[in-house]
Amino acid sequence: MNIMEQLKVVTSNLEEFDEIKVDVNSYVCKEIIADVKNQKISISFLVKKFKDLILVQGKISGQIEIDCCRCLESFNFPLNLSFTRDYPADLDEVDVEEEVREVIILNVPDKPLCSADCSACALIAAKI
Ligand SMILES: [Zn+2]
Repeated sequence: MNIMEQLKVVTSNLEEFDEIKVDVNSYVCKEIIADVKNQKISISFLVKKFKDLILVQGKISGQIEIDCCRCLESFNFPLNLSFTRDYPADLDEVDVEEEVREVIILNVPDKPLCSADCSACALIAAKI
């Protein structure tokens, strides 16, 4: 099973209050910033069916390797993120990938700094 499929959950046969837990190791986020060298990302999420909606709550953890925008050294940037999203109750399948990708991209700085001491980037970093 490929990673993309693992982020899809069939919800058509869920009854109210049923839940499905999904763990995905080594997820690769495709549209992350170009300078990312390595990604070690795990995702776990819970899909729960309610009368009026399908609720998905998840956690993204791991790290990515990116280059500092100042000194150009690569460093590990940790990811410890969580997300919550609801979907219409009548969906036959929930695809969490879009949500996961958005959360990761929003949290990866596009002007990354290896440390606060790389001060030339401080002004840019302050906006991130
Ligand atoms: Zn640096």
